Amino acid sequence: MASFGAGNPYGDPNWYNGAYHSPYYKETHKAWRARCRSFVEEHIMPFVSEWEVNKAVPRETYVKCAEAGLLPVVVGAHSGAFDLVPKEAPQDLDYFHELIFVDELARCGSGGVLWGLIEGLQIGLPPVLNFGTEEMKKRVAPDCLMGRKIISLNITEPSAGSDVAAIKTTAVREGDFYIVNGNKKWITNGIFSDYFTCAVRTGGQGMRGVSMLLLEKDSMPGITTKRMDCQGVWPSGTTYVEFDQVKVPVANLIGKENEGFGVIMKNFNHERWGFVVQATRFSRVLLEDSWNFANKRSTFGKKLVEHPVIRWKLAEMTRQVEGIHHWLENMTFQLCQMPKDQAMTTLGGPIALMKAHSSKIFEYCAREARQIFGGNAYTRSGLGERAERLYRDVGAYAIPGGSEEILLDLAIRQVLAGQAAILSELRSLHEYWKQQLGAAQGSDRSASPAAASPAAKELSNVGREEAVERRLSEGLQDFTDSIVQSIEGLSSKLVFEVPARPGPQPKPRTQSDQPRTTEFHSANLNLGRLRLREACASLRSRRCLFLLCLPMAMAMAILRRMPLPG
Ligand SMILES: Cc1cc2nc3c(=O)[nH]c(=O)nc-3n(C[C@H](O)[C@H](O)[C@H](O)COP(=O)(O)OP(=O)(O)OC[C@H]3O[C@@H](n4cnc5c(N)ncnc54)[C@H](O)[C@@H]3O)c2cc1C
Repeated sequence: MASFGAGNPYGDPNWYNGAYHSPYYKETHKAWRARCRSFVEEHIMPFVSEWEVNKAVPRETYVKCAEAGLLPVVVGAHSGAFDLVPKEAPQDLDYFHELIFVDELARCGSGGVLWGLIEGLQIGLPPVLNFGTEEMKKRVAPDCLMGRKIISLNITEPSAGSDVAAIKTTAVREGDFYIVNGNKKWITNGIFSDYFTCAVRTGGQGMRGVSMLLLEKDSMPGITTKRMDCQGVWPSGTTYVEFDQVKVPVANLIGKENEGFGVIMKNFNHERWGFVVQATRFSRVLLEDSWNFANKRSTFGKKLVEHPVIRWKLAEMTRQVEGIHHWLENMTFQLCQMPKDQAMTTLGGPIALMKAHSSKIFEYCAREARQIFGGNAYTRSGLGERAERLYRDVGAYAIPGGSEEILLDLAIRQVLAGQAAILSELRSLHEYWKQQLGAAQGSDRSASPAAASPAAKELSNVGREEAVERRLSEGLQDFTDSIVQSIEGLSSKLVFEVPARPGPQPKPRTQSDQPRTTEFHSANLNLGRLRLREACASLRSRRCLFLLCLPMAMAMAILRRMPLPG
């Protein structure tokens, strides 16, 4: 099979090499890859340095990218974006098409150019597509998807970043309008934006008082934007946004009032997954440039690549880039296969871990590339231009969309919350069966004759023990059935809240509370269910009578045997 790309060592994912096989990619992906590469080679690569200096991507490039049928792919395969524009979706559109486009675009080696072109759209439009009214979708989305208008996601404020629930921007209802006042900080594409997908406070303190609103610059006076002078991603236009008495129609509410926190959370998987695609290709760009430079530059009469220390650096970068790419492909496959809601709950933790992993690898590669390039990576042009630039762009991957610290912690807290939910269910079952057993023993005692002969007493004792044993045995059967059913029910119904900061233990919630929950998790319940099935089958076959000890013993066994991910 034909190879694709320049064929530099590890310069592209291994499915680009004709000798490799992959279960993920079909002809449609290969054709799409060729379209993406030719667009990027012709319309992006030659202009990156210029756009970096200008700190902006020209508006006509958005339109060109949309006209080529590429731009609408960045808002998620399930979003229905291609139904809203006069462009044909790639055949059998799935998340691998988005991965391929963003990966190919990231070959430009500039976080700023990439974000300038797609980031506001990739994170700002999905809330409108997934939660906006039909009218809003039809009015706003086509212009954004065709590159005619720019949209941004406005969550972070000067005093609230990681702790999203602490935002202070207010939206006070006055008749058919909200009056919005407040500030947003570090908003990607904000300075270029026509639309602002914005988190506001419509209710009381905390996550349950947050709503999402769409603000429109042209028709709503009171929005001012100021470019922030930042370390990297210059053409992305990192912006300080101020809202001063902005009058927003109630019809611009995205989702329901005071349920905006759920909208924000549902946006996160796709946003974080997108960051991983970008950080992974940037790491690969650094690796590719390092290979090329190490084969060109000589010191002490040898090529750099002939020095063991440099070979070790290349090997360290390579193993990490290849590793994260394969994890990314696996997660992308899960996104393609799982129903949307299931993906949101089940993949939340793994994608959080993967994002943190990818930015750490990016940072590692940026440092090692700099050391391979030496002084050339310290100048803003020439051979080390991309190494110099990407070194400055790393922070834009380690901090936004959930910083490394927040995401690593989140992933583990989700596992713990899953275990706590199982334990709590087991405890309540234990209570239930203790009561059942008490009732069974009570009725047997009352049935035994008070004044019987010793022989009759002995016989009746034997009978009573048999009866109790029979009931226990039947009870065990019922118990194991009901526990499996409960855990099955639990995995589909139970959702629970993960506190944003240290505090009380996670509290199980039922489906009726769903709109108020922040994080959902079911993967561990599924795992627990499997373990329970195994344990119950083995207990049944041995007719174990230690019923009272059973629930706690099982809980301990599950908790001990459940591995943490990673
Ligand atoms: C380049 C760039 C682009 C951005 N684009 C956007 C955008 O388009 N829209 C938007 O809304 N926001 C955007 N942001 C903002 C970004 O989402 C926030 O910077 C991020 O959420 C972190 O918030 P913070 O900077 O206020 O840090 P803080 O929340 O104040 O945290 C400070 C540091 O402490 C750590 N920390 C915080 N809490 C904990 C904890 N519980 N345990 C351990 N460590 C903790 C964090 O990791 C962080 O490094 C962008 C930021 C950058 C840098």
